[in-house]
Amino acid sequence: MSDLKVNLTAPNGRKITLPTGLYINGEFVKATGGQTITSINPTDESEIATVQAASVEDVDKAVAAARAAFNGSEWRDLTNTDRGGLMYKLADLIEAEKETLATLETWDNGKPYQVSLNEDLAEVTGTLRYYAGWADKIHGSTIPTTGAKFAYTLKQPIGVCAQIIPWNYPLAMAAWKLGPALAAGCCVVLKPAEQTPLSILYFAQLIEKAGFPKGVINVVNGYGKEAGHALASHLDVDKIAFTGSTVTGKQIMRTAAVNMKNITLETGGKSPLLVFDDADFEQAAKWAHIGIMSNQGQICTATSRVLVQESIYDKFVEEFKKIVASTSIVGDPFKDDTFQGPQVTKAQYERVLGFVESGKSEGATLAHGGVPYTKVGEGKGYFIEPTVFTDVKSSMTIFREEVFGPFVVLVSFKDEAEAIKLANDTTYGLGSAVFSQNIERAHRVASKIEAGMVWINSSQDSDFRVPFGGVKNSGIGRELGEAGLHSYLQEKAVHVNMGTKL
Ligand code: NAD
Repeated sequence: MSDLKVNLTAPNGRKITLPTGLYINGEFVKATGGQTITSINPTDESEIATVQAASVEDVDKAVAAARAAFNGSEWRDLTNTDRGGLMYKLADLIEAEKETLATLETWDNGKPYQVSLNEDLAEVTGTLRYYAGWADKIHGSTIPTTGAKFAYTLKQPIGVCAQIIPWNYPLAMAAWKLGPALAAGCCVVLKPAEQTPLSILYFAQLIEKAGFPKGVINVVNGYGKEAGHALASHLDVDKIAFTGSTVTGKQIMRTAAVNMKNITLETGGKSPLLVFDDADFEQAAKWAHIGIMSNQGQICTATSRVLVQESIYDKFVEEFKKIVASTSIVGDPFKDDTFQGPQVTKAQYERVLGFVESGKSEGATLAHGGVPYTKVGEGKGYFIEPTVFTDVKSSMTIFREEVFGPFVVLVSFKDEAEAIKLANDTTYGLGSAVFSQNIERAHRVASKIEAGMVWINSSQDSDFRVPFGGVKNSGIGRELGEAGLHSYLQEKAVHVNMGTKL
């Protein structure tokens, strides 16, 4: 076996040969600085594989490859329809290998295998196919101006795009970023999160198989402070698209100013879910559970603040605790009945437990969980019991800060005005949900919540056809849908004089 490939046997018995290099200019290569990343299985804390980690020099090479591909005729001269065709082919190859990709995702990240396979991989292929369809439907407009003149616009690809993604949905986030960029005709350097470097390497093999010209998509695993920073500060990168923490998002924004890069940021959240006393009570409780506890609570849009009308608050707390106890089955992510796997890393596990201490010390009531879950993995692994706090005040840290774990605060409100005030009492503005059977109230409240997305009588709906993004400290710009495509295009105005004489 070459030193840039490793043979693995996954916990579900699947045999996988995984490339471990950086994918630059159509080849897997060794990192120049000798740095590596060792991926840890969060279920039992064992080492899975060691992969190459990019230095600043490697990032330079990847950007140069993307630039050469962007300027090269092989990519530029493809018809838009053929560009879409390559994307359809890539989606087909992913679908054919979805069990292997889902296995790697679960092994590396800890999310239940059924979620990786049936939700995340479906999201990946769906998103790529959606944007493949857009590739030959991109066009500007014609604008009559004054006299014998008119103008038209050209929609042109922004250029070389750096895409920095997080660990909570490694493949899905890659697809959200690659889909619109490729449809627009951009070339890409993608940097996965250092916590989850594996699935994307398997995916990278499929890029060449699909027939993409060399350098159009480059994948550089690496550390945020080195490889990520090198991308954000690179003078030959035209756009940066980032998903991750608000702190890093702000850092990237400052760094990207060096050559005034176009930026799209999708950062954190502390999303509210409002339950009015006229809601379908059982449905609201079930959705509230899904809204915070799925994906181990590691969702930027997780509805982590559940605000419930005073008159039904006590009853809701009891119902919610019952659902958590019966539905949030913590366990081995490769088991079919597991709802909640381990947190992704020791750091995240400790972070969540730290917030438990914060909640207790500030006077909130720990109503459920809040401790390590030790019934799997012989005490190993980053498992936490789903955690519910009640008697929470808006001044408390657990009401204000993003925990990013299976951790929810239940807060009561008197009336609609107080509900909206509490919902908006946050520096974030990503997701939000309103539960009410009163159609006028539901829409009225939806329009008043400061957030990029509102779910009415639902939670966590995300669809590649619909724009996704935040306001306030939750980000800039939109991904997905037509808006996501346009964030990789720039509009050039061409003014035409049809005969106006001086
Ligand atoms: P992070 O923001 O540090 O990392 C996200 C990505 O940014 C990774 O690929 C990382 O390598 C890269 N990065 C880090 N520092 C960088 C820099 N200076 N320049 C360029 N790139 C850089 O997030 P994290 O440390 O993995 O998680 C911390 C917190 O972020 C979590 O607890 C959670 O609150 C939040 N988070 C949010 C999302 C989301 O989807 N919005 C996803 C993951 C984490």
